[in-house]
Amino acid sequence: MTRLAAVIGSPVAHSLSPAIHQAAFDAAGVDWTYAALEVAPGSAAEALSAMRTLGIGGLSVTMPHKEAVADAVDQLDPAAWALHSVNTVSWDGDRLVGSSTDGAGFVASLAESGVLVEEAKVAVIGAGGAARSVIDALARSGATDITVLNRTADRAEAAAALAPVASPGIVSDITRADIVVNATSVGMGDDVALPCDPDLLRPEQVVADLVYHPLETRWMAAAEARGARTVDGLGMLVHQAALQQRIWLGDDAVIDTASMRAAALQALAARA
Ligand code: NAP
Repeated sequence: MTRLAAVIGSPVAHSLSPAIHQAAFDAAGVDWTYAALEVAPGSAAEALSAMRTLGIGGLSVTMPHKEAVADAVDQLDPAAWALHSVNTVSWDGDRLVGSSTDGAGFVASLAESGVLVEEAKVAVIGAGGAARSVIDALARSGATDITVLNRTADRAEAAAALAPVASPGIVSDITRADIVVNATSVGMGDDVALPCDPDLLRPEQVVADLVYHPLETRWMAAAEARGARTVDGLGMLVHQAALQQRIWLGDDAVIDTASMRAAALQALAARA
């Protein structure tokens, strides 16, 4: 019998998840289908009840439901527990498990580009949900120094409190980092702003952007122009989804990230 997985969010119409996950299921040769379900803010617990009643095989969770789902599942993985945020729901017997794969997806996207975070010094610009997941995962993966810079200082402090190796930073910390991450929403869509002065960047650095629309942001172009190596935000999107696939389908499943990225690129092109 076909199994259903779905993304829940509000709004969810522009999510790339259906394209990415359906490509993954097709490449794995499994009889799963993936849908986008609009769930009104405040109705996350009802969505989980529906998952139980309908036997939905897995959920991806997007804003604004990530925290409410963390409250409604039976069990949390360590990252979801630390962040109090869930982007993946799966089954363990008859229990619903909430996981957070965003940060680990980011680390996997760096690894795919040959960038290891162990013992790295990282500057993270931003302190929202995405930045928090990245800080948590960088620390779990062995980064030794994480400085957090954010427009709103108390949010930087709260995000830095997630990991002993993290602390709120000042702008000059960007220059001494091995890896610099834009985890703000600056540069999304038609926004021409930059998350910081690109003259702070050095050619030896790896510069990552979590923004993936546009795929090559002004920030990445500015970093490249200064000789830095860049990593785009689509890698994180694909790898956090690949980790969801691993959770739903199990360790033996074939996860074809190349097909997933191709499907994401096609969906992005259709949006433009
Ligand atoms: P969020 O929770 O709303 O946080 C937004 C962050 O951006 C905050 O740190 C905010 O600073 C900062 N910011 C917004 N506008 C700014 C401006 N004009 N100047 C300076 N800072 C500004 O959003 P999020 O969920 O963390 O998402 C952040 C970005 O990551 C979005 O572009 C999202 O699409 C992307 N993302 C990508 C992936 C992926 O898989 N690639 C996954 C998740 C998110 P304040 O705290 O001062 O408001």
